Amino acid sequence: MTDCLFCKMASGEIKPNIVFENDDVLAFRDINPQAPTHVLIIPKKHIASINDIHSDDETLVGKLYAAAKAIAKQEGFAGDGYRVVMNCGEDAGQTVFHIHLHLLGGRKLTWPPG
Ligand code: AMP
Ligand code: ZN
Repeated sequence: MTDCLFCKMASGEIKPNIVFENDDVLAFRDINPQAPTHVLIIPKKHIASINDIHSDDETLVGKLYAAAKAIAKQEGFAGDGYRVVMNCGEDAGQTVFHIHLHLLGGRKLTWPPG
């Protein structure tokens, strides 16, 4: 997807503040953080939303959670706790249509979210 912001980050055309990377996954700091640590974890493959995840993507989606676990440990809040969330579609406030986990940590988080 040439006009996708997160594909441009995955290809290196735009350079985000990277905190984790492997062959399939890239994670970088959110430009508008909602917690002391707010990281976005994306597959390098373009998938527009949860509604576009196919059965052959399920291993890849699992790798996003494996990255979240590793980054939480790296950032030092794995034991205290953290939140991982993926917005889907307009009602959830999805603004970038390339799936991404939000990893939020470093403060007490309230529930339910707004
Ligand atoms: P969502 O609303 O779930 O689609 O989340 C999109 C997220 O991308 C928001 O939290 C934005 O702050 C974040 N974002 C948008 N542009 C950038 C960028 N250039 N670098 C890092 N994060 C970004
Ligand atoms: Zn994309």
